[in-house]
Amino acid sequence: MKVQILPALQDNYMYLIIDEASKEAAIVDPVDPDAVFKAVHENQVNLRKVLTTHHHWDHAGGNENLVKKFQHLEVYGGDDRIGALNRKIKTGDSFKIGNLIVKCLETPCHTTGHICYYVTGNEDTPAVFTGDTLFAGGCGRFFEGTAEQMHNALINVLGTLPDDTKVYCGHEYTESNLKFAQHVEPNNEAIKQKIQWARAQREKKLPTIPSTISEEKNTNPFMRVNEPSVMEHARQNDAIATMAAIRKEKDGFKG
Ligand SMILES: [Zn+2]
Repeated sequence: MKVQILPALQDNYMYLIIDEASKEAAIVDPVDPDAVFKAVHENQVNLRKVLTTHHHWDHAGGNENLVKKFQHLEVYGGDDRIGALNRKIKTGDSFKIGNLIVKCLETPCHTTGHICYYVTGNEDTPAVFTGDTLFAGGCGRFFEGTAEQMHNALINVLGTLPDDTKVYCGHEYTESNLKFAQHVEPNNEAIKQKIQWARAQREKKLPTIPSTISEEKNTNPFMRVNEPSVMEHARQNDAIATMAAIRKEKDGFKG
């Protein structure tokens, strides 16, 4: 499996997923169809599928133009508000990109129809495309859901994927997310180290993506709501109340 990172707009990421054996490809959240067209041409792959994480325009806004450029595209997503949607999916559904297997995971909260895509291939390290549910160091705002739903998404769904799973999220928010993470856990060494690394990457104009599930478990306060240090900061004694409290705090946080 090859994943090409395609920056778009201010700080969005699109991802071209390629099965190298069959040259079949899929694109995640193709908000900029021209850039997708160029990457497909350069890689000489056969683009067959669109994996939409959620209906927000900066993720799904390119779908309608993309289906005009490529014939017979299958457009996957979990929300009727997604443009050009023709494959509505839910948890448990799976499909293939060549030899790669994609499993659909419903993670409602940021939006009610948000889907994460878990991709595995024979010898490959697995990858998960998390849209605006899980970011490196943070999580999406709870626009259409509750702390309980985000807890379920991050702890029970994404948190149970293999630790080495690569995490490809929807935005380059890592540096500012980690500033908040450090505010929550000032003594967390893994956060300190990752901030320095992320700063160096951004100075070189390089992405901080992918992360991994285990890195997120070590540095992301929203995946660490069961940790005593995070609960203490939130002045709560259960994980869901902690999730609600730190999300509220981050919404108003000026790092
Ligand atoms: Zn969004």
